[in-house]
Amino acid sequence: MEGYTILKVIGDGSFGRALQVEQKSSCEQYVMKEIRLPKSPTGIQNSRREAVLLSKMKHPNIVAFRDSFEADGHLYIVMEYCAGGDLLQRIKQQKNTPFPPDMILSWFAQMCVGTKHIHDQRVLHRDLKSKNIFLTSDGAVKLGDFGSSCVLNSAKAYAYTYVGTPYYVSPEIWDNKPYNNKSDVWSLGCILYELCALSHPFQASSWKSLILKVCRGAYTPLPAHLPYELHYLVKQMFKTNPRDRPSLHTILTSHRISRLLQKHL
Ligand code: ADP
Ligand code: MG
Repeated sequence: MEGYTILKVIGDGSFGRALQVEQKSSCEQYVMKEIRLPKSPTGIQNSRREAVLLSKMKHPNIVAFRDSFEADGHLYIVMEYCAGGDLLQRIKQQKNTPFPPDMILSWFAQMCVGTKHIHDQRVLHRDLKSKNIFLTSDGAVKLGDFGSSCVLNSAKAYAYTYVGTPYYVSPEIWDNKPYNNKSDVWSLGCILYELCALSHPFQASSWKSLILKVCRGAYTPLPAHLPYELHYLVKQMFKTNPRDRPSLHTILTSHRISRLLQKHL
């Protein structure tokens, strides 16, 4: 803690706080996540996982890890500060003005590349949502918040536990099937839809009807003015059977979509 000055509190959650800090030696700004460590050894291990996994991810589209340490029953994770805030805030700022399709595709392409990097290391993010995607001052997009992520295969049972935000949860999770790489693809589809329509794809007045809509893949049609490619992409990503849903590898390489996205990378 000594090496940093707290500038302000930018997030307050069940885990603890997110602080905007300045490193005294370099005058550089960072985000410091302060996580209250639980008492139990497994709880501590779970909390540490976020720092361990984030530290392994070095990619231009993933929030850069800087440092982590423990003090006074807290875990501190120091990471790159993204001055543009999160994508949910950015969406809200639009009011009802649609984003230009090129901007949507550019952001989406960057999210795909970042997520593919995670998947290539057999890690699942498990909480992809617009609130966990960050924008830098120069408009780049970065995935953040690895607090729910897990390593595939290490503990299969763990992948069964539901951790996500209801709006972004895929049909297989509601169906009690294991979380897999395609479940992250579904969540990315929800974010893509949000960028296109400025609203959630699946909305309902009760949990029960929300889940039913998700499991049927019955999303509100996208605004008609959007280019065909975006309609097509969303449709592929909302295939209810994870096997029919494209992987990030498919989206970025072998699909006709890839030609569209590569232009934006
Ligand atoms: P949680 O979702 O578990 O509360 P997050 O890591 O998503 O924790 O951080 C909480 C909030 O802090 C975010 O919604 C965002 O507003 C802010 N925040 C987190 N990381 C960054 C970052 N790298 N750059 C800028 N703001 C951030
Ligand atoms: Mg978050």
